[in-house]
Amino acid sequence: MDNLTIDELTSLEEKAEQKAKKASTEKPTADELTTKALAKPITKVASVKCKINKDKPIIALTFDDGPNTTTTVEVLDKLKKYNVVASFFVVGANFNDSTGKVVCRAYDMGCEINNHSLTHSNMSEMSAEEMLAEVIQTSNKVYEITGEQTRFFRPPYIAVSTLMLDTIDMPFICGYGTNDWDDNGTAKERAERILDQVKDGAIILLHDLQGNYKTVEALDIIIPELQSMGYQFVTVSELFVAKNITLSSNSNIIYSYAEQTTMYKEEM
Ligand SMILES: [Zn+2]
Repeated sequence: MDNLTIDELTSLEEKAEQKAKKASTEKPTADELTTKALAKPITKVASVKCKINKDKPIIALTFDDGPNTTTTVEVLDKLKKYNVVASFFVVGANFNDSTGKVVCRAYDMGCEINNHSLTHSNMSEMSAEEMLAEVIQTSNKVYEITGEQTRFFRPPYIAVSTLMLDTIDMPFICGYGTNDWDDNGTAKERAERILDQVKDGAIILLHDLQGNYKTVEALDIIIPELQSMGYQFVTVSELFVAKNITLSSNSNIIYSYAEQTTMYKEEM
């Protein structure tokens, strides 16, 4: 490759461009989608461009259990109000024409759409085939809307087994939460619990469950307070890129923050 002429180089570049063009216009087959869903999306994560000020702390807000046409929409309105992004861990079974449009809006706003299974079952008791069906079908539903497979997985109920970690080829995400799926707890209490736990590089776990208006209200406290503390809001992908974390395909870490190194160990 050292001694190519300019012309040869140009021709190589053109070929590469044509190849890229072709790849982007061809619709993948079901088999290809399956392979892609299982492929560790490290290159994609690495390609995320992240414009952040390295001197200021970062945080990733995440929302589980959507999409729906009520609470998810209200969360998006709050994100828009404060000009921030978040990541949504979606349940595939919730997808239909109307909720698909909400996912499309989130994606267009710069939010990331991640995987929270198809049926929101306790997957730690499932066979490997059942686990794969849960994540692949959800990833494919997201792909139909955004053109991107999901990059990260949050296990329903954070129920994890060694088989799940071995089978599902995406980094596992947990996060700092406030049990906001439980109707107890006012918006103020939820916000205080989140603000008590924040630190640079943290992943915050909230729920855009239908009817979870207290969490929507809590965002009016959480987001401006974090902004006043200098926090920059990023997607989960951006969080790892910004902290220079290379995600390994066989890591047993269930991440709650970017620099985490503790591995999952099965309790005997
Ligand atoms: Zn959930």
